[in-house]
Amino acid sequence: MSETKKEQQEDFSQGLDYSEEGFDNLTSGINPDLEAETKIAKNKRLKTWQEVIENKKEIYTTEKLFKICQDNEIPRLRPKFLKKQLIEHGMESDDINSAFELMACITGINKIIFDENEIPLTFVPEESYTVAGYCSLSKNPNESYQVFVKNCGKILEDRAGILLDEVGNQQNFSLTQKEILLRVAIHEVRHRLQYQKGFKFLSVENISDERNVLLKGYMNYFKNSLEIAKKLYRKKGETEEMIKEKINSLEFDSEVIANFAINEIRKGISLEDLIKIIQHQP
Ligand SMILES: [Zn+2]
Repeated sequence: MSETKKEQQEDFSQGLDYSEEGFDNLTSGINPDLEAETKIAKNKRLKTWQEVIENKKEIYTTEKLFKICQDNEIPRLRPKFLKKQLIEHGMESDDINSAFELMACITGINKIIFDENEIPLTFVPEESYTVAGYCSLSKNPNESYQVFVKNCGKILEDRAGILLDEVGNQQNFSLTQKEILLRVAIHEVRHRLQYQKGFKFLSVENISDERNVLLKGYMNYFKNSLEIAKKLYRKKGETEEMIKEKINSLEFDSEVIANFAINEIRKGISLEDLIKIIQHQP
């Protein structure tokens, strides 16, 4: 591998930084029109978010929640040059669009939970077994959310999630594309919460203590389905280390909360109640 190519590859693994700061660095001086447009969008966005955050009793359905995430984040997440850069890295247009939609959902949910707390966002032009990730400060110099762009659309299709009825039986219909994106976003934001000091998360050990019947149903469901998945991975010859990365107590907690939250969003929910679910502790 030539030195330049090697450098480029190392650069890829860092992902492309589109935090507020990174974005401003990239836009400034490149295209004055885009820069001006971005500033207007930024002011408009903050105002709208202020209203969203202040009005926590308003009811949100999937469509409405998805829309506030997209409307408010897309102006800064969808600059043409970002798309151009990802295309130059060999990414497909459809995957880039899915990745942008997903990142907008992640930043939206992150903002609802952490208010004005902004963390770096990175688009990684590589494929991973997952579509998104949260890098905590315990392992990295900076915490960040990542979206893996390559084959993002296809991998999202496989992340359909589940819906349970009140007695814990799996329902006969699948999640919509918007529900899948919100589900992945809630999953990642829940990961961020898990690293807050003293935060307690759901585990198979506290299933019997859970008083919410539906939430308990989800805990039982994932207890079983993750055990099955573990066996399948072993059959496929995955290493124990890889299996542990995919299936562990943090993943159990995130999956339970994200799927349970989508079930409640489907019925219509206030932000106040959605926050309670995403922050739920046993
Ligand atoms: Zn996870």
